[in-house]
Amino acid sequence: MKFEATRKAGLLSLDAFVPQAGRKYTEQRNFDYGVETRNASSKLSPWLRHRVIAEWEVLERVLAQHPLETSTSFVQEIFWRGYFKGWLEQHPSVWQSYNEGLAQASGYLSSDYAQAISGNTGIACFDHWCKQLTGQGYLHNHARMWFASIWIFTLRLPWELGASFFLQHLLDGDPASNTLGWRWVAGLHTKGRNYLARAENIARFTSGQFNPVGELVEDADPLEEKRTHDLVPILYPRASPLPPKHHLYVVTEEDCWTGQMLPCPTSRVIGVVSPQSSSFGQKAVRAASSVLGGDMYVGHDWSDAIIKAAQDAQTTDIALSYMPIGYAADGMKKVYSKLQRDGFEIFQIPRRYDTLVWPHASKGFFKVKKNIPSFLKALGLETGNRDENL
Ligand SMILES: Cc1cc2nc3c(=O)[nH]c(=O)nc-3n(C[C@H](O)[C@H](O)[C@H](O)COP(=O)(O)OP(=O)(O)OC[C@H]3O[C@@H](n4cnc5c(N)ncnc54)[C@H](O)[C@@H]3O)c2cc1C
Repeated sequence: MKFEATRKAGLLSLDAFVPQAGRKYTEQRNFDYGVETRNASSKLSPWLRHRVIAEWEVLERVLAQHPLETSTSFVQEIFWRGYFKGWLEQHPSVWQSYNEGLAQASGYLSSDYAQAISGNTGIACFDHWCKQLTGQGYLHNHARMWFASIWIFTLRLPWELGASFFLQHLLDGDPASNTLGWRWVAGLHTKGRNYLARAENIARFTSGQFNPVGELVEDADPLEEKRTHDLVPILYPRASPLPPKHHLYVVTEEDCWTGQMLPCPTSRVIGVVSPQSSSFGQKAVRAASSVLGGDMYVGHDWSDAIIKAAQDAQTTDIALSYMPIGYAADGMKKVYSKLQRDGFEIFQIPRRYDTLVWPHASKGFFKVKKNIPSFLKALGLETGNRDENL
């Protein structure tokens, strides 16, 4: 399995997958037959996570070949990404408490933890997924659920360490989908409902490759937390179009979409990446900024690079795609005050898709799911007349 961080490779993978997005995906998506073989899932997540290819173009191509009735299952999965992003955006304390929990757990690293991350627990399926994760940077969704469940309920390790281990190795490592995926398994996202990996389920959905009878804790209470997480309405910092005049455009690991050229010819583009981003994310930013004619910087303090690029471009306007909660936004927060102090104006532009989906992601997935037909209509995807200003 090869994941090349370019738009061309993402679109080729999308085209190869589209014929399977209907009945085949619905019937077989939960089966994990291993790394190289016939899994029915799309493996599009690294490109989608960094918006090398965007949700709306995946939906457009799938719906051009399959009516919504047969592709509902796949279409809903696409909206899970936006659901988790919108949910985390409206519950920022969850990201904060994950990072605090991680810092605390990292102080008590045990030999059990060392065995788990090196794939030496003696639980064959877990050790196999661990090696697949560290070697390939990808795991099937069902394997992620089983792995997280065994980590939390059988090995009794802190969930934050497992989530961080995923983020270090997944090519699609994503602060929202990952943190909330782990919290969902733990029973913290849907309070009181945890996900328990069972030998019989693993045997069935790996077609007998693994059958860990007697090795797993199959009955355990969900995790609990003292802290409550209040809903904070989304306040887009500046819901404006790109500045009409000459500006500096900043590409980040959150949005590498170059599918539509920028409305005004920009004299300068730079890419910035946080040190925690996956290798795929770093390559994706490099590829996108180079398509748009720019350079790339890794690190958390990008202010000097941004200021220099803006000065070279003789502009004080800086534009970038709105950054959801995560490492890139954390990094940009540090840079903001310095840029503003030096007289730069920053335009964070939300994508239309996100402004439609995120406000519905305040509680469970149901509200997003119910609105899928109206989202498709609003985006022009239902009729094949996609809104060009996404
Ligand atoms: C514990 C855990 C951790 C996870 N960590 C991440 C992560 O760091 N990054 C990440 O992108 N996904 C994460 N997921 C979600 C999901 O497992 C992956 O998006 C999916 O496996 C990617 O494979 P695919 O592209 O073949 O998916 P497909 O089944 O082909 O689905 C198509 C697309 O729908 C979206 N999608 C599908 N399932 C989910 C889901 N449960 N949550 C959010 N979006 C989804 C993805 O964009 C995916 O590419 C995690 C899930 C769990 C249970």
